[in-house]
Amino acid sequence: MPKYVFVTGGVLSGIGKGTTAAAIGKLFQFRGLEVDMIKIDPYLNVDPGTLNPIEHGEVFVTDKVWKFTPYKGFTFTIAEIDQDFGTYERFLDKNMHPRNNITSGQVYLSTLLQERAGEFLGETVQIIPHVTDEIKRRIRMVAEESSPDVLITEIGGTVGDIEASPYLEAVRQFRLEEDPGQTALVHVTLVPYLETVGQLKTKPTQHSVKTLLSAGLQPDVIVARGKRPLTESARRKISLYSNVPPKAVISNPDTPVTYSIPLLFEKQGLGDYLCDILRLRTRRPKLSSWEKTVQLFERKKEPVWIAMPGKYTQILDSYVSINKAIEHAAVALGVEAKIEFVDTEIVEEDPSRVEIVDKYHGILLTPGFGTRGAEGMIKVAQRALNSRIPFLGICFGAQLFFIAFCREKGLEEANSTEVDADTPHPVVDLLPEQRKISEKGGTMRLGAHEIVVKRGSKLFDAYKKERVRERFRHRYHIIPKYARRFEGRGLTISAMDVSERIINAIEVEGDHWMVGVQFHPEFTSRPNRPNPVYVEFLRAALRRKRTSSSGGASR
Ligand code: GLN
Repeated sequence: MPKYVFVTGGVLSGIGKGTTAAAIGKLFQFRGLEVDMIKIDPYLNVDPGTLNPIEHGEVFVTDKVWKFTPYKGFTFTIAEIDQDFGTYERFLDKNMHPRNNITSGQVYLSTLLQERAGEFLGETVQIIPHVTDEIKRRIRMVAEESSPDVLITEIGGTVGDIEASPYLEAVRQFRLEEDPGQTALVHVTLVPYLETVGQLKTKPTQHSVKTLLSAGLQPDVIVARGKRPLTESARRKISLYSNVPPKAVISNPDTPVTYSIPLLFEKQGLGDYLCDILRLRTRRPKLSSWEKTVQLFERKKEPVWIAMPGKYTQILDSYVSINKAIEHAAVALGVEAKIEFVDTEIVEEDPSRVEIVDKYHGILLTPGFGTRGAEGMIKVAQRALNSRIPFLGICFGAQLFFIAFCREKGLEEANSTEVDADTPHPVVDLLPEQRKISEKGGTMRLGAHEIVVKRGSKLFDAYKKERVRERFRHRYHIIPKYARRFEGRGLTISAMDVSERIINAIEVEGDHWMVGVQFHPEFTSRPNRPNPVYVEFLRAALRRKRTSSSGGASR
């Protein structure tokens, strides 16, 4: 059985609990241990696939598709999970399984279906013990199925949230059921710096630990997030009030390179401390290859400006894997990608504003759904075509790029039926198997699929092989009949699925680097192994920068 580390959060959400959990996972990996990660999301959605990214950030897509069976005879497809799994994959270089994302939706669904089937006959079905039992069962299921040395469970939200309380109770019971030395609890809080008094404030942390204690949970470690590193006096104060030794109070200040956090933890002795608590005897940590990666990210580099036009531009997290994939590729080329979001509704209000994209070295047209902002995105793609700006379209972005191409070739009313159901030229339409589906949860074409790349294409130049595997999340596709019309007239179909039914990538002919991919290459990008599609896109952007230094792309 694995050792269990639970990670809770206090004071505020969004302070980097996911990154902290992943960085702790890395500490065990440094010591040669197998690590797996669970994330608990206390919302009632069964998975985040039905959430707008503005609500909860990006939806992460796994390689594997999981048939979630809350009860015999009921199955739901899950491959869309919380964005923290992207962080886990990037830190641990490991494909995560969708069953590792436990939501309240799943937990309650299972409990209620069991109740209807009569599994609890005669009993009053309650949060304690029925819901908490189901939570513990799910955690132990992951332990059994993936049998890691250490299983880290991050509890979403903050202590004190009503929704999170059954999970804290489940953790309390779990720790009681396991022998001493089997579990550890890490609490991540915010330690703000108050400018007016020039001091770090520990009071929010004290309160948050009190809330945790009132749930019967004594933390073993406190990780203090904040703008600034902890001072010795703040550390001692937190130690005293939270009943943990000073060496278990860990400073985790803001850093431009999040991959450096495991090294920062290592310096403070967190790896050894957790191993002591968990009675793990391991080899000495091997840090050198991770240190090398971090050094590459820390180098000062020349900027390349990338525009990201899209519809979820209000929050940074809606495209987090794309931002990371661009960063990984930039680091590999020794440049720094500067990414700016462009809200395409602005272009819709005033089409002349589309010129703003000319100043960038590259344009990445983002994934998305629905009508709002789509017309503006098409206009941007047309501009990229005409101004020969390096361009990468991802999923929706690739579909809209194809629409832009068709319009430029004379099909002026070309559209996707997702954007305009009555278009006379439905050049992007539902996948045939999607026509009979009306439910929205977990029903898209999901997970990783094999892709056949055309030799001689720009995409082949990137991958340098014919067969690759990437992840998908779509209902619509580029209609082959229309794409074939333009083959040899400016367009190349550069990848298909293995059944040759679904266009997986298109690109313009000639030396203008303009590629649209139906899949999401960002999900397989790792800090030390950037995705080749992103690398080639950035290389093209860098070329534009170098050749147009006198005007044109001035950004
Ligand atoms: N809305 C489009 C589709 O369903 C694109 C989805 C996406 O960008 N992930 O096909």
